[in-house]
Amino acid sequence: MRIVLLGAPGSGKGTQAQKLVKKYGAPQISSGDLLRDAVARGSELGLKAKAAMDAGELVSDDLVLALIRERLSRPDALRGFILDGFPRNIAQAEALSDMLGRLGQPIDAVVLMNVDGTALLKRLTGRRTCSRCGRLFNIYTSPPTADTPCVDGHREHQLVQRPDDNEDTIRNRLDVYAAQTRPLVEHYRGRGLLRTVEAEGDVEDVFGRLERAVKPRSRSVRRSRKPRR
Ligand code: ADP
Repeated sequence: MRIVLLGAPGSGKGTQAQKLVKKYGAPQISSGDLLRDAVARGSELGLKAKAAMDAGELVSDDLVLALIRERLSRPDALRGFILDGFPRNIAQAEALSDMLGRLGQPIDAVVLMNVDGTALLKRLTGRRTCSRCGRLFNIYTSPPTADTPCVDGHREHQLVQRPDDNEDTIRNRLDVYAAQTRPLVEHYRGRGLLRTVEAEGDVEDVFGRLERAVKPRSRSVRRSRKPRR
């Protein structure tokens, strides 16, 4: 499984990527997480990336590509990967295609997580992450429950809000998505790689649609318009 999850901020890429990891074992490669990690470690790259992230702008391609190149070269990526939040513009998509072409590991599918614009703001303002186990929640739509214990079982989740999940920065991130990332939809459609998943509604239902979209057979099924078995 070598897939790219494409979609606006708040479209559920991270949540669904975590579910794919659990079920299929391929690692999630999130450019946002790699960048936040670099910022938290105080590395030189992190220091350079921080201002753009805080403003909701894209971090420069050279920094992001350096992180992705390094991550894709680790042995676990040979099992496949779920790219989440990368690529985010045409230049990154072309660099990715070169990188994977050299490794002989092209992308199988690019999945567009389709969500109506108005739903996104609520998802993003309610988003929280547990600083202990890394799990994603939404205080409005999917708060922690007894079924979602923290790693060591005994303690409660420690929910934190990302600094760029405030309303001004969110609006900017949505504008940046429309201007720079959305053109990737046509880019990948033209290459025959695009699948679209309706990403509103229950997390499990979305996951079901996502699984059907990435199954190798779903392509020919869709092309021949036969009913699903
Ligand atoms: P979201 O998709 O919800 O905006 P991410 O965690 O993917 O959140 O990204 C957070 C921030 O990290 C972005 O607003 C941007 O500043 C930076 N970032 C993440 N991925 C990329 C990328 N591929 N290229 C440039 N900047 C990125």
